[in-house]
Amino acid sequence: MDAALGCVKQITINPVVTCKQCKGTGLKQNAKRTTCSRCSGSGVRIQMLPGGFQMASTCDTCGGTGSQAPRGSECPRCDGEGVHNEEKTVTVHIPAGVSDGMRVRVAGEGDAPRQSNTKSRSNGKSGDLFVHLRIQSHPAFRRKGPDIYHTVSIPMTTAALGGSVTVPTLEGNTTIKIPAGTVSGDVITLSKQGIVDVEGRSGTKGDYLVNLKVTTPKSLGPYERNLLEQLAAAIGDTTARRTQTVSSSTTSR
Ligand SMILES: [Zn+2]
Ligand SMILES: [Zn+2]
Repeated sequence: MDAALGCVKQITINPVVTCKQCKGTGLKQNAKRTTCSRCSGSGVRIQMLPGGFQMASTCDTCGGTGSQAPRGSECPRCDGEGVHNEEKTVTVHIPAGVSDGMRVRVAGEGDAPRQSNTKSRSNGKSGDLFVHLRIQSHPAFRRKGPDIYHTVSIPMTTAALGGSVTVPTLEGNTTIKIPAGTVSGDVITLSKQGIVDVEGRSGTKGDYLVNLKVTTPKSLGPYERNLLEQLAAAIGDTTARRTQTVSSSTTSR
């Protein structure tokens, strides 16, 4: 029902966050970063290749930042990383009509960037959180894309005479008409009462299909049996088993 109608979920995750103690610098209070000794602060290492070619690569000592934390000056909270994992609760809005295996993106709720690439591609912003959806089955509804299916049992007398039956829908119970002469397997379609089609045009909904299952009484008392035997005679049923003779005299004349 949550997937069909949409919902809001609270989920707990353990993302990488910027260290609150050092504010991401990775340094103890009052400590300062020093120029990287390996690359002399350029953040790039130049390698000479045979033939006079040069190859530039990111300095792996400072991760391209050009500076490094002096030994013993690392922030104790994050071990000099500038970031650490922290449990947090995120509110996720799940739109109506999602299906199993889909994912919902929550902007900015992913990992914070590591200090070494803060100044490069991520611009210091946290990444996004992707929530994978697994959808449980429903006891009364079966789903196929935006369409939903439900099976309801009706007595054989309702099936023969016509009538009505109450069925659950996504928006509560509704009563549907059963036409006279219904047989098991007949389907009544409630148009556009299915699930929002997230892959189709916005606002379009699937159908709600009610499968009718005609039930026959399992045990008959003498009175019910008599009525049914009379009915069998009246509609010319020659194959029904007869146990009583009283009925034939009343209907054959
Ligand atoms: Zn360096
Ligand atoms: Zn820290």
